Amino acid sequence: EYKMDIVIESKMLHKKYGKQDVLKDMNLHVNRGDIYGLLGPNGAGKTTFVRILLGLIDFDNGEVKVLGENPDQNGKMLRTRMNALPEDFGVYPWMSAMEYLEFFAGLYNLKMSRMQILKILNTVGIEKKDFNKNLGAYSQGMKKRVGIARALLNRPEILLLDEPSNGLDPRGRKEIHELLLELNRETGVTIVLSTHILDDVQNLCNRIGILHKGKLQYQGKINPNLLSDEETAFRYRLHLRNAADHLSALAGLKQLKLVREENSWVILEWIKTEPDKVIKDLLDKGFPIIEAKNEYSNLENVYLRYTGGSFAQKGA
Ligand code: ADP
Repeated sequence: EYKMDIVIESKMLHKKYGKQDVLKDMNLHVNRGDIYGLLGPNGAGKTTFVRILLGLIDFDNGEVKVLGENPDQNGKMLRTRMNALPEDFGVYPWMSAMEYLEFFAGLYNLKMSRMQILKILNTVGIEKKDFNKNLGAYSQGMKKRVGIARALLNRPEILLLDEPSNGLDPRGRKEIHELLLELNRETGVTIVLSTHILDDVQNLCNRIGILHKGKLQYQGKINPNLLSDEETAFRYRLHLRNAADHLSALAGLKQLKLVREENSWVILEWIKTEPDKVIKDLLDKGFPIIEAKNEYSNLENVYLRYTGGSFAQKGA
């Protein structure tokens, strides 16, 4: 029943705190190798979900599988195969990067040689000259790298990151993006990150889930031009000459799901077929299309539609 290529799966997951329903019938899945963005305003339930995945808290109803195991029962074992980095993970300012990682390797019960630790520091882009500097003297970006190094110590198959680029300037953020993309590409590590920064989502994630008030409002793939749900629905806005004259003809076409007029524009929805093909087909049929716009192309609009909240463009 459990599929190898799905590393996280929740089915009808329900979690309450007292009388409050914090997660409601949540069906979410993450494929191996995904960089999955968990989006949603404060209080949406993101942290609660992550704590369930780590086996730190239980849940009331439904099913959760992480790497094929139930985190509620096998959390301890699972935590050797995954790792999590909170947003404001602390570094001890008086420790060097080396000492910090040696300290965490000890906490994780890992027997690691200095060479192995140096290699991880190297992987996250800390330069040799900085290995023995006190972390107090590190920039925000370098501290993030050390945090990511810490989360990589146990060679996790799944990395859970909370707001990985918050507090960084645009350059620092770009560098963290590059690092995470490289890790994902080279080690195949699955990354689940929570963020409210649009830039993170557009540059990092291949799939996202939008959580709002404990409900998964949206889950789907993302690429620069198109945001579509799992069954690849498309919604386009077409500008037609004399739009009203063509409405019934459009509504009569089987492949189109929704046809509606809005201020001389026609809104169309369909499933699966590539937009270029559909529009060409409509032109071939003689519909006088002046302009076509993808309604789902603006991620922020989608997020707004589902949550009523907005992204921080620059990061708070
Ligand atoms: P997010 O991470 O998306 O900001 P959380 O998962 O932290 O959201 O919180 C979801 C909801 O659950 C909030 O209403 C929060 O107040 C509540 N909550 C979180 N942790 C607890 C707890 N330990 N006890 C009671 N309520 C909690």
